[in-house]
Amino acid sequence: MRTRGNNLATMGRFVFDFDEPSGGGRELLGGKGIGLAEMTLLGLPVPAGFTITTEACRAYLREGDIPDGLEDEIEEHVHRLEERTGKRFGDAGDPLLVSVRSGAAVSMPGMMDSILNLGLNDDATEGLASRTGNPRFAYDSYRRLIQMFGEVVDGVEAHRFEDALGELKTRRNARHDTDLGAEDMRGLVATYKQIHPAFPQDAREQLLRAVRAVFESWNTPRAQVYRRANDIPDDLGTAVNVVQMVFGNKGDHSGTGVAFTRDPSTGEQGVYGEFLANAQGEDVVAGIRTPQPLETMQATLAEAYAQLLDTMRRLEEHYRDMQDVEFTVEDGALYMLQTRAAKRTAAAALKAAVDMVDEGLITREEAVARIDPAQLDQLLHPAIDPNARLEVAGKGLNASPGAASGGIVFDADTAVERAKDGPVILVRWETTPDDIHGMIAAQGILTVHGGMTSHAAVVARGMGKPCVAGCEDLSLRDGVARIGGHELHEGDVITLDGGTGRVFVGEVPLVAPRLNEDFETVLGWADDVRRLKVRANADTPEDAARAREFGAQGIGLCRTEHMFFGSERLPVMQEMILADTEEGRRAALDRLLPFQQSDFEGIFEAMSGLPVTIRLLDPPLHEFLPSEEQATDEKVRARIRSLHEQNPMLGLRGCRLGLTYPEVYEMQVRAIARAARTVGEGAVVEIMHPLVGFAEELRRLRELTERVWAEEAGDAPRLIGTMVELPRACIRADEIAEFADFFSFGTNDLTQTTLGMSRDDAEGKFLTRYLNDGVLERNPFEVLDQDGVGGLMRIAVERGRSAKRELKLGICGEHGGEPSSVAFCHRLGLDYVSCSPFRVPLARLAAAQAALEEAGSAQYVAAGG
Ligand code: PEP
Ligand code: MG
Repeated sequence: MRTRGNNLATMGRFVFDFDEPSGGGRELLGGKGIGLAEMTLLGLPVPAGFTITTEACRAYLREGDIPDGLEDEIEEHVHRLEERTGKRFGDAGDPLLVSVRSGAAVSMPGMMDSILNLGLNDDATEGLASRTGNPRFAYDSYRRLIQMFGEVVDGVEAHRFEDALGELKTRRNARHDTDLGAEDMRGLVATYKQIHPAFPQDAREQLLRAVRAVFESWNTPRAQVYRRANDIPDDLGTAVNVVQMVFGNKGDHSGTGVAFTRDPSTGEQGVYGEFLANAQGEDVVAGIRTPQPLETMQATLAEAYAQLLDTMRRLEEHYRDMQDVEFTVEDGALYMLQTRAAKRTAAAALKAAVDMVDEGLITREEAVARIDPAQLDQLLHPAIDPNARLEVAGKGLNASPGAASGGIVFDADTAVERAKDGPVILVRWETTPDDIHGMIAAQGILTVHGGMTSHAAVVARGMGKPCVAGCEDLSLRDGVARIGGHELHEGDVITLDGGTGRVFVGEVPLVAPRLNEDFETVLGWADDVRRLKVRANADTPEDAARAREFGAQGIGLCRTEHMFFGSERLPVMQEMILADTEEGRRAALDRLLPFQQSDFEGIFEAMSGLPVTIRLLDPPLHEFLPSEEQATDEKVRARIRSLHEQNPMLGLRGCRLGLTYPEVYEMQVRAIARAARTVGEGAVVEIMHPLVGFAEELRRLRELTERVWAEEAGDAPRLIGTMVELPRACIRADEIAEFADFFSFGTNDLTQTTLGMSRDDAEGKFLTRYLNDGVLERNPFEVLDQDGVGGLMRIAVERGRSAKRELKLGICGEHGGEPSSVAFCHRLGLDYVSCSPFRVPLARLAAAQAALEEAGSAQYVAAGG
């Protein structure tokens, strides 16, 4: 990836002070770096410092070493920092101390590493102690440096430090680390140095090795897992920020916190955050002590609190988006350490967007553009039935909304293992970045410890997974979880309600979601700008009704195969398949017709006034028969054998069935026509033939369809069209269009046939391997292969429309509800996309964003997702 906007003066440079123009944006400076630079420019209280660019990281990863010139540049900027602060790096009397923090262009919470208090050594710590008159603070800072440096740079196991701290606390009978005194901290430094004897005393060596470690942390397995799960490219690299230390651990008038300009769970107005007095940043993020609500600052740090509120207001006005900030207070003075677009739940994203339009902060188009469609999925999943009477086993913080049930697992590896067999809930004391693979595998996360900004909470919100954090009703010991009088073992089922923080034992009834007012409002704005219509794939009146509630403008695919199942129908269907003669088949079909007709009537009524595309029978017939072993009758077994196909996906299915057994399609068309006649004007009928590859197939089937339609419905309007799901159909689309009123891209089959990959044989097998090994970036059955399959679609659109200008074009494969594929369909000039009812809202939004992007008015990429 190339960085944009480099100009001559800044080209070739790897390091920029926060107040220097870099000519690059987020891609060059990383999210943290650009935030620090902009806050500095706004005149907000930011400690001095500099950013080493992502370009330097990329060069390092390419060359396997610090690129030429970088060391000198760092030295030069350290020197400038010394001049600004009047302190000297590595000085024994009054040392300049810095933090080294990673910051990629895309936020990766908890993925990369930070080191604080860099520049301390044995002598400098003495200097700091006498200079501040606070030896406890000096030794506390030093022991933290040794630990962080040991962990991050030299790979010393964290628990060795934590165990030593724990033992000391037990010996001193101290509840918190703040209860330990100066002598304790001095002793701890000695212990930590035994644990990590190689800790370097030279400040410059510390700095360079820390920078290298941050660069290298880009490629840790957990960072790679996170990137894969979030579709973040592997080649961006991270920037490194070197910031003058400000200390939150100097006593009761110091502290550190994180805050949001609005509530990240609900979007409610009003700042929302947590504060820990006498602590450094990593204490909050790691959940080492449970932080207090932000408002508690008011009592002891009134001025800093007021300044913080004012700063956050200014930041929100500047960015015109909800912010999430990190700050430290040192001896009553506020310092801002980070600002970024806040991660938020889907509900919060919608509420904040609607409110910001009301506040005049953003336009409706911006509101539409900044909601991540994929994130809306969160709101479209079942929730706990509010009317169910339930026994709450325990309660924690409502850290990330949604409901989930699953068997409990106590570690990340087991989560991955057991998730193959069914949903799991990851239950931990607290989570760390090392748990990321388990969090991805789990349906929900429950922790005993940690607040609303703990690792578990932040990551779960980002993933849109339910999370209950800080559930102190829960205890974990030796593979047993105890909660509300229950004793639970691995695999026992619990249910989480992340929206209220409740934990239930066992499975709990869930109800279908509803769109709330903010959701409706934003989708209404989306509808005003989109060009693509959105339909639903629905096979029953209930699905049709739900789709309509979600804003579907018709049915793009009504599969008819399930209408042949059910205890009354299947035996008749089997009779039809087993019949030796056409007469026998027709007799059975006559009995199936009324069932089909009443199904169609229900669907037409539910969709009254909107088009309904009904696809005639598609799957191979053997799907309706028992397996050979199950069959008792020899005649049936013989028929099953005769229907056996080596490659059913490429066998007797789709329109080939209709041409082989025309009576089947005749019956279906008759049932559709009669249903349309019964329902009357509200029925808007489109009849669709599957798996057409040759114009002649469709010519014959169109003739059949028109003949039966005329017999039953006279000249009532209807459209006759085809699925386009074979490469040949794309290539010969002009010929096929002659007999079609519409095309609907069946991208499930079109992907299989274009890639020569059977979906059932690929997923979970070699395709998974391909994705893990990076042969393919995305699963082509989920995200449209725009270059390959999309290339064929483009040919079909051009050739089809060249033969028939008014040809209606849609898509009804799974891709019709996937945001990037919807955008592609917009660019291709399709008339509509069709997807499952639950994805209709997503598709409406994605279609609007595609239109805005085309119009060039989408100034904001979706944030918070
Ligand atoms: C398709 O192939 O994309 C399609 C919608 O049909 P089905 O999934 O039923 O084969
Ligand atoms: Mg298909």
